[in-house]
Amino acid sequence: MSLFLVWCIIFFVLGACIGSFLNVCIYRLPQGRSIVRPGSACPECGHSLAWWENIPIVSYLLLRARCRSCRAPISFQYPLVELLMGVAATALFMRYGLGPEMPIYLCFIGCLLVVTFVDLEHQIIPDIVSLPGIVLGFIFSFWLPELSWMDSIVGVLTGGGILYMVAWLYYVIAHREGMGGGDIKLLAMIGAFLGWKSIPLVIFLSAAVGAATGLTLMVVSRGGRHSAIPYGPFLAGAAVIALFWGSELIRWYSGFLAGV
Ligand SMILES: [Zn+2]
Repeated sequence: MSLFLVWCIIFFVLGACIGSFLNVCIYRLPQGRSIVRPGSACPECGHSLAWWENIPIVSYLLLRARCRSCRAPISFQYPLVELLMGVAATALFMRYGLGPEMPIYLCFIGCLLVVTFVDLEHQIIPDIVSLPGIVLGFIFSFWLPELSWMDSIVGVLTGGGILYMVAWLYYVIAHREGMGGGDIKLLAMIGAFLGWKSIPLVIFLSAAVGAATGLTLMVVSRGGRHSAIPYGPFLAGAAVIALFWGSELIRWYSGFLAGV
C-alpha cells in the first residue's frame, strides 16, 4: 500500500473522530451544557456509552442505529457529521499535503458544520462558535501563505458589513427583522478565514442556492410553507465551495466582468 493512501486513511479516521466531538458540540452548545463532561450518553434513557458504542461511524452500523439499552433510534446526523469531517480531512490532505492549511481549514470546516446543524435544528447561529472563529481566522492568516492578515481583516469588515447593511435595509423597508445577527457574524468569520475576495462569491452562491431551495419548498408545499428557512447552512456550504474552488471561480468571473 502506498504511503499516500496510508496518510489518506489516517486523516479520514482523524477527521471522523473530530466529527464525533462536533456531534457533542452540536447537541450540547444550544443547551448551554459543557462539551467536556459528562461522557456521551443516550439522550432518551441516559445509558452511558461504552467505548465500543462511541466509535465514529462504526458504532452506528454495529448498533444498527438503535440505543443498546432502550432501543431508541439514533439520528443519522451522528454518522453523517463524522463522515463529512472524515471526507473533509482527506480532501484537505490531498489538496494541501501536510502544510499549515490542513489543520487550519479543518478547524474552519468544523466550525461551519457545527453552525449548519445547530441552525437547521434551532434557527440560531451560536456566538460561541462565530465570535472566536473571527479571531482564530485572523490569527491563522499569519500562517497561511495565500492569505495576508490585511485580506483577513478586510474580509471580516466586508463580510459583516455587507450583511449588516442588507439587514438594516430590510428592516427599514419591511419594518421587521429578516436576517439574524448570527448570519452577519458568520459571514464575518468566513471573511476572516477566506479573505475579502471570497465574500462576493460566497454571497452570490448562498443567495442563489438559498433562493432556489426556498422556491422549491414553496412549490412542493403549494405555498403552504411560510416559515423562513435558515440562511446559515447556505453560507456555510458556499464557504466550503469557495475554499476548494474559489480561486478558479473568482478568476472566471473577474475575467467575465472584465470582458463586459
Ligand atoms: Zn437509550
